[in-house]
Amino acid sequence: MKINRDGRLYCLVHSRPSAVMIDPIEKEPQLHHKPGTEILCVGTVGCNFSCKHCQNWSLSQASPNERSVFDLSPQALVDAALERNVTAISFTYNDPIILFEYAFDTAVLAKEADVGIILHSNAAMNPEPLRKILQYTTAMTVDLKGFCPEIYREFFGGDLDMVLNSLKIIKEEGVWLEIVNLVIPTINDCPEEIKEMSEWIVEYLGPDVPLHFSRFFPAFKVTHLSPTPIETLEKAHEIARNAGVNFVTIGNVPGHRYNSTFCPCTGERLIHRNHFHMLYNDIVDGKSPFSGRPVPGIWE
Ligand code: SF4
Repeated sequence: MKINRDGRLYCLVHSRPSAVMIDPIEKEPQLHHKPGTEILCVGTVGCNFSCKHCQNWSLSQASPNERSVFDLSPQALVDAALERNVTAISFTYNDPIILFEYAFDTAVLAKEADVGIILHSNAAMNPEPLRKILQYTTAMTVDLKGFCPEIYREFFGGDLDMVLNSLKIIKEEGVWLEIVNLVIPTINDCPEEIKEMSEWIVEYLGPDVPLHFSRFFPAFKVTHLSPTPIETLEKAHEIARNAGVNFVTIGNVPGHRYNSTFCPCTGERLIHRNHFHMLYNDIVDGKSPFSGRPVPGIWE
């Protein structure tokens, strides 16, 4: 979020977050990343998308000065992360592209201090800034909001091709990636579309990128739709597994069996979760103890 003053662009939200919180890393979700630890979550106002269902609309659709702000420099964020001994600082709530300079300056300092950086993003970023910030980023959670270009444009206000290109770049740069698909009834819950999306993930990103199907609840301008039926999420899970995605979970349904991660070879439970809470983690040295199969992620 920038202003043009005499031909120079200034970032209006640098060092001025509107939301700062300690959360479980599972909430991001980063489910293959130091399970059971905490992260420092930071967001500002503004977004490059205008999703009609946005859960964070009071931040994402606000202007600077509409929301109270904290005064927290990049160094203050890193100091807070060290003091609270969190796994990472996560730029989340609104899109990190909006606060790019703030996130980048923090990421440089965090790397020096050995603090992780997570970006939770819609991934609608140009290749150059994306590659630049990825050099200092530990992991990304990307919201892949569907697989229909028209719906992407009309309902979310974004460009699907740009997002798919970013996903390929993240993979290429070797930054740990997890994908979330919020399944919204009548908008992006068509089984063919979910199949096409899953096949694309397997072909271009590989079968081991975790894919999380998340339950929609009415919010912002979408109060006329019901929450996603559990069966729809279970069907999406089945479609993705059949398409070859190895690690598929279901979120926003506390207590569901597929909150957990399973060994794709034996079907045994590797990480037992209830909602955002890890109950146990059986992964040993990055491998399934049941099959010996490597389970990609950041475990140490
Ligand atoms: S990208 Fe995320 S924060 Fe931005 S409008 Fe969409 S749901 Fe809200």
